[in-house]
Formats: sequence, C-alpha cells, structure tokens
Amino acid sequence: MMSKFTLALTAAALVLSSQSVSAQKPGVERLYIMNCGEGVAGDIGRWSPGVNEGKSMDFVDTCYLIKHSQGWFLWDTGIPDAVAAMPNGLAPADPKAVSWKRPKTLAAQLEQIGVKPADVKAMGVSHTHPDHIGNVEMFPQATLYVQKAEYDWPGANNEPRFKPSHPVELLAGDKDVFGDGSITILSTPGHTPGHQSLMVRLPRTRVVLLSGDAAHFRDNYDNRRVPVNNVSKEQSIASMQKIADTISKEEAQFWINHDKAQRDTQKLSPEFYD
Ligand SMILES: [Zn+2]
Repeated sequence: MMSKFTLALTAAALVLSSQSVSAQKPGVERLYIMNCGEGVAGDIGRWSPGVNEGKSMDFVDTCYLIKHSQGWFLWDTGIPDAVAAMPNGLAPADPKAVSWKRPKTLAAQLEQIGVKPADVKAMGVSHTHPDHIGNVEMFPQATLYVQKAEYDWPGANNEPRFKPSHPVELLAGDKDVFGDGSITILSTPGHTPGHQSLMVRLPRTRVVLLSGDAAHFRDNYDNRRVPVNNVSKEQSIASMQKIADTISKEEAQFWINHDKAQRDTQKLSPEFYD
C-alpha cells in the first residue's frame, strides 16, 4: 500500500512533469528585438509626399529573432554587418534618402544570447531593399520565406534578388509558417511587388504585427500616406487596410520597423518579449 509520503511524492512528480510539458508547448516562446541599423533620413517628404517636405528624421532598422518550439525564425536581416566597420557608414547617392550606420552587428547580438547563425532554421524578409536583406547569407542553411513576386522581381542589371543556391519557399499570399498559427506571413504588396508583413502570437504579449515597410513611421500609417518610391499606391493603401483589419480582429500591437520613436519605448535584446 502507498504511504501518504509516497502519494505526496507521486503528486509532486505529476506537477513537475506537467510543468515541463508546458515549458515545451508548441508555438512561439519569445521574441528578441535587435538593432539592425541606425540612420538619418535627409528629407522625409519622399515618405510622406506633401507633408514634412525638407525635414530630416532619425530612422532605426530592426530585426526580430523568434524562438519557436520547432526552431529559431529570423524576420528581416538589416543593414550588412560589414557597415559596422565603416566609420562614416553607408551614405546614399540621393541625399534625401537614409544614411545608415551599424552601431552593433547582428552577429554580436546573436552571440550575446548564445544563438549561432547555424541555429536559425528559417527566416523571412519583408522585402528586398538593401536595409532588409543585408545579412541573408549569414544564414545559408535557413529556409527563406519570400513571395514569388518579390523573388522574381529583377534587380539592378537583371541580377537575381537572392543567391540562387539559397533554400527558399516561394509564397503566393499569406503563410502559416509552422502550421500552428503562431507565426504568419501576411502578403502586403505595394512598397515592393512582393512585400510582406509578419504576425506573431506570443504567450503573454499576445499578438504583434511587424510592419516591414508597409509603413515607415506611425504618422504615415495613421494617415495612410504612400511614399513616392512605392511600386503601387493602390496596393500600398489596400495593404495598410489589411493590416488595420488584422490588428482589430486580433487585438494586435503594431510594431513599425523604422519608427525610432516607437522603438525607443521597446525592450531590445538581450531582453525579450514572451
Ligand atoms: Zn526599409
């Protein structure tokens, strides 16, 4: 017959085993916000035509590293790490564009939390502008999730957008990456032909929607302003509406990649959101 002591031990073991099960439950466990560049936009009128003409503004460039029960997922890769070694950073040909610096490398931020580039199982980029794809080849093994419309979009001199040998999953619309609803790519074209945003379902922070460049800063999103360089104004407005509808349905927070005012209020890696 079991003694009271044995029963208590058995009960304690049951509690412990259910805790370890919950620690490994499927889905997203945490999200790190990483500094992937800091810059100054010469004239933000090009992002908000007719408004703010001639005004300069500080920008940030952000990467997001997500720990999912099936592996690490990276969203956007930022300005190339090599820029960290350039004292004057990357100066644009057009002085109205953003001049970028790299105060911290992505590699150093991964190392700080004990993640090796080889640990990254999959990644997505919002689009193929250079401030988002700068470190894709630091992760040659990671499956890249990209819209076919973006992948096939000819680059300068008809160059491919990515190294042809890089493993890819080409998308034609939204994609539930791990099949459990915790990381969902949302097709939001307009800034570029195959631009995409990301919805992440966290245990405590709840739902977060990562903008990509569907909007560059809050005021532009609130007023549905479309930058002059976007490939389609109509698609850009429809994509902002799709984001707004998703935010209200999911009661999501909207985190804007380049918005310095917002990012200054957020926790940066090694701190994280869970
Ligand atoms: Zn950008």
